[in-house]
Amino acid sequence: MAGFPEIAGLAATSLIVVAPHPDDDVLGCGALIARVAPHLPVRVIYVTDGAASHDGSPTYPPQRLRDVREREARRGLRRLGVKTPPLFLGWPDGTVPRAGDAAAAPLLAALLAAIPDREDVAVAVPWRRDPHCDHRAVHSLLDAVLHDRPRATRFEYAVWLGVIGETADEPAPGEGVTIEMDSRPWLAAKRAALCEHHSQLGGLITDATWAFALPESLLTRALGPVERFVIPRGTAV
Ligand SMILES: [Zn+2]
Repeated sequence: MAGFPEIAGLAATSLIVVAPHPDDDVLGCGALIARVAPHLPVRVIYVTDGAASHDGSPTYPPQRLRDVREREARRGLRRLGVKTPPLFLGWPDGTVPRAGDAAAAPLLAALLAAIPDREDVAVAVPWRRDPHCDHRAVHSLLDAVLHDRPRATRFEYAVWLGVIGETADEPAPGEGVTIEMDSRPWLAAKRAALCEHHSQLGGLITDATWAFALPESLLTRALGPVERFVIPRGTAV
């Protein structure tokens, strides 16, 4: 069978991608998703609503921006060939609690409900030291959830690491196995999926008092020839 098992030597027959924001799935795993989707079920879980990317826009108040980002995410997934409907947990962007926080209880429950305890499930989670507060918090949540899902296989993907990360944020020797996947055959699909995220590319919302746009350096890296994943030490392969 083509797809994920060949990449990681895993016996996975389904893939779950946990994305802090609607677009991290594409940025960090877009080629992998496009590669796997024709062969295996792929489900993406979006933790936040992404509504903090713009502030003070009269035409795109938070509720509208939230709807825009959900629509962009769905379109992006279609470009990658994903057929399974995604799950939107709708947590307010920029405020994801860590696993030990009392506020994390509903997120932990939702993630536990969405991730089955099966040995054929591979779960892509944000890299543990990806330099973004929501990404690290989502990693912390998944660390706790997957402790209760010992048969699932975890692997970690980075989005911001190579852009604003420090050397200490990189995987340390012995911390895990780094896999590099040649993403070139799936780059067209990845690029098309990324282009669906208009709101994050600077062109859609022009009247905000503060506006985020994906930096060129991140886009260049995301559309590069490889996607990197770390399988943490101790994960069965
Ligand atoms: Zn993100």
